[in-house]
Parts: sequence; structure tokens; C-alpha cells
Amino acid sequence: MPNTHQLSDRPRILVVGGGYVGLYVAKKLQKKVKAHGGIVTVVDPLPYMTYQPFLPEVAGGQIEPRHAIVSHRTHLGDAELVTGRVTAVDHDNRKAVVVPTEGEPFELEYQDVVMAAGAVTRTFPIPGLAESGIGLKTIEEAVALRNQVLERVETASMLPAGPERESALTFVVVGGGFAGIEAITEIEDMVRKAVSKNDRVEQDEIRFKLVEAMGRIMPEVTAEQAEWVVDHMRSRGIEVLLNTSLAKAENGKLELTDMTDKSSAGTFGADTLIWTAGVMANPMVRSTDFVVEQRGRLVTGQDLRLTNEDRTEVIEGAWAAGDISAVPDVTGGLPDGTCVPNAQHAVRQAKLLANNIYAHRYGVGRIKKYVHKNLGAVAGFGSWKGVAKVMGIKLKGAPAWIAHRGYHGLAMPTFERKFRVVGGWFLSLFFNRDTTQISDLQDPRGAFVEAATPKPKPEAKKDDAKAEAPKAEAKSSTAEAADKAEVAA
Ligand SMILES: Cc1cc2nc3c(=O)[nH]c(=O)nc-3n(C[C@H](O)[C@H](O)[C@H](O)COP(=O)(O)OP(=O)(O)OC[C@H]3O[C@@H](n4cnc5c(N)ncnc54)[C@H](O)[C@@H]3O)c2cc1C
Repeated sequence: MPNTHQLSDRPRILVVGGGYVGLYVAKKLQKKVKAHGGIVTVVDPLPYMTYQPFLPEVAGGQIEPRHAIVSHRTHLGDAELVTGRVTAVDHDNRKAVVVPTEGEPFELEYQDVVMAAGAVTRTFPIPGLAESGIGLKTIEEAVALRNQVLERVETASMLPAGPERESALTFVVVGGGFAGIEAITEIEDMVRKAVSKNDRVEQDEIRFKLVEAMGRIMPEVTAEQAEWVVDHMRSRGIEVLLNTSLAKAENGKLELTDMTDKSSAGTFGADTLIWTAGVMANPMVRSTDFVVEQRGRLVTGQDLRLTNEDRTEVIEGAWAAGDISAVPDVTGGLPDGTCVPNAQHAVRQAKLLANNIYAHRYGVGRIKKYVHKNLGAVAGFGSWKGVAKVMGIKLKGAPAWIAHRGYHGLAMPTFERKFRVVGGWFLSLFFNRDTTQISDLQDPRGAFVEAATPKPKPEAKKDDAKAEAPKAEAKSSTAEAADKAEVAA
């Protein structure tokens, strides 16, 4: 049970979630608030912020997993950190319920709250999806994916030709947004590299399928660019199935539906199913007394304060930004006039939110409104390949890939992390992507448990038993003596 007396009794700015928004808000406010006698408290079940745009490259062996995350302890030294989950907020009474990673839930009082718990993977009730699929929203998923994909290639290389081998070498991604396209292309690059080193598998045995329910992919780039991406993927042997959705994922078989006439679009075996078909605001918002709009996000004003339904009244002391919030976008955005959920907005909103809280709480500076015109989008599809639309300029291939790396290298928070990521990229120019698979991550204690578990002695044959008895006795006393000597040593 955590000792809540160890938590600060200073007036608290409670930050719910330490991702993009939480990290930037806390980093900007921690020292200033402390200087005014207050405290910034960050509650997150994870002790780090994840730079999610790097997850496809982590899964594809281009970035070391730890380099894509930013430690809260290292960078939020003047904030109070609580490892746990906020499960409810009672803003009328300025209290949040925290469920720590270990121990009993407790209430945390605050003066201001920043809702920054982001989004979660959005799924549909597809039979077998939960059992056989994997998302790409966390660093753990990216690591597991990298290992699973490489393990399947290695396992397939020992299987005879047939359905089992085909399933092991079939990799499916559902969702043709940025995350899905980056994931399938990075993984394709990695698998081809792994296969080139394994003479028991042929390149033409590997199958990649991208399944997208809409008629086009990547809504963030122009239709012409999206078509180029489809052609590019097909030229690499990736099957792109548009207007197609996943109907079932049971018993190692995937069943697809043609969305144009709802007919079957085929059934095939696949051991790897990656789900990247969108995100939705964290459902924890439903356990708060804030207003939640149609898409499940918190209704937020342009100054990033929470409001009533039609944004005519501000809720004092409550703020939100990032994927969890519906912030008005006066420059365009979603059809309902709010910001699209992306890191570009999250970071900028976080910085403004920190300034606005400070101005409101301590009277330093003034409250400003959020205005940011989308700069465009950059995507990497494996080494030297990509697509980008930056401030109206359209790029393809190597220039887009360089723009992608340049942008994300600069955008990665903290100098230390930037340096690690860029350093890793530099090394991979010489040594290429890392196709080393780490086995047994699910059961790291397996080898030790086996070694430490007493084994039953092999039974001696009856006839031999008598003759062997004196020898055995002698051996066991020698073994005992050796054991004693070891203990003494
Ligand atoms: C694979 C992938 C690729 C992407 N690529 C791009 C890209 O190229 N460009 C771009 O602009 N955007 C990209 N995005 C989107 C971008 O990462 C998000 O928009 C951004 O992370 C949103 O920031 P946030 O702070 O709102 O949420 P997050 O960064 O997700 O942070 C939320 C935090 O809240 C914590 N949390 C969750 N529940 C609770 C709880 N109950 N209590 C306390 N804490 C909680 C989580 O652990 C997490 O640390 C990508 C996303 C993914 C998944």
C-alpha cells in the first residue's frame, strides 16, 4: 500500500498522463510552480513518455526501443511522479482517484487538473481479434512485434512446405493510416533483410497484406500521393487490399470482406496480425464530471480550458490537450472544426497550456488562444523510402525519407534522446538495420527455473541396483562433499 503521506501537501497541478502533453506541460511548469510553493504531480502507469511516431521503426529494427522513450524520472526531477492510473475525476470536489501499480486506490486532491491521458487503440468486435492480433501504440507492442516477426521467419525456415510455413511467412496489417503504412513497410524491409541471411527461405515465399476498409490510404496526404504510395508498396510485393475489412481471425485463419458488396474477399492463414485501424479518446473521460462530446473527447475551449457543451462557459481549474481533447481548430482540421489527433498539435497545445495555466494561476503573462496551421506530414517506408507533404511541398522517395528523419530527429524530446536516436541512425548507415531477435521475452525466467528445479534422479535398473549400490553410495557422498565444499566456498 503506498504511503500517501509521502505525497506533497503543496497546492497541486495534477497532470493525468505523462505522454506528449503531460511531459511537455510538466517540464515547462515544474520549476516555476515549485518556486511559487506549489507542486506539479504527474500520474501515469508508465514511467516514461513514448515517442509514438518511432514505433514502426522500433518494430522494424531501426531504432533501439529505449531510445524511443523518455524517462520521467530523468527529465521531471522537480515534479512529483506517481506510477498509477487515474480512474475517476470528481472536479466539483477537486479530487482524482488514483489506482497505483501496486496497492489500494487513493484520492488525490488538486487545485488544477490537466487531462492528458491521450487515446487508446480503437477496435471492433471481430471474432478472434483480441486473441490473435497486436496493436502498435506502445513500445512493448513494437518490441514484441519485432521479435515475433523475426521468430516466425526463423521458425518457418525449419518447416516443410505447406500451410503452416505459409502462415508463418504471412504478415498482415489492418489499417491504412500513417501508422499502418509505416509499420508494414518497415517490417517488410526487416523481413527481407532477415530472409536474405537465411538460405532456407526464399524471398518469394513471404506475403505482406495491407487491409484497408476505405477506398484510399493515408488521408493526411493528397490522393495523388496516396496512389503513389499504393503503387510503391505493390512494387515491393505488398498486397494492398482497399475497400476490404477483416471479418474474422479465428484458428490461425483470417477472413476478409469486400466492403463494396459485403461478399467474402478470401480466407487465408497468417500468424502475424497487426491492428492499426485508428484510435479513440481514452475512455476514462467517462468517469469524470466533465462534458464529453460525440467522438468521446473532452470539450475544450481554444485556450485549452475545459468548457460546457457549447463552449460558452469555462470550467475553472480544468485543462486538456492532445488526443483526449476536442480543441477547436480555426485553421481547418476535422469536419467538426476540431484538431486532428496528432503529435504536431499535442506538443504545441502542451506548451501553450503550460503558459496559460501559469498565467491564470500566478498572474504571470496572459492567457492565449491555440492557433496552429498544420505543417503537413512526413512518413518513412524503410531505408531511403518515404512520402511527405511539408508546407505544400510534395516529396517522394529518398528526399521524403530524409525530411522524415530530419523532422523526427529534431522533434524527439530532450537533447539526450535526440542524440541517442540520431546516433543509432548514423550507425545503421554502416551496419544496416538490426535483425537480431531476442527470444523468450515472455518467459525470461524459464532457463533459470529449469536450472533451479530439482530433477528426479534417474531410476536404477532392478538387477543392476544391488551391484551398483556401493558405487552409488560412494558417488552420492562425493556429491554431498562437493556440495558442502561449494556452500563453504
Ligand atoms: C504508431 C503511431 C505513429 C504515429 N505517428 C505520428 C506522426 O508521425 N506524426 C504525428 O503528428 N503524430 C503521430 N502519432 C500520433 C501521436 O503519437 C499522438 O497524437 C500523441 O502521442 C498524442 O499525445 P497525448 O499526450 O495526447 O497522448 P499520449 O502521448 O498517448 O500520452 C498519453 C499518456 O497517458 C497515459 N495514460 C493513459 N491512461 C491513463 C490514466 N487512466 N491515468 C493516467 N495516465 C494515463 C499513457 O500511459 C500515456 O503516457 C502516431 C501515433 C502512433 C500510435
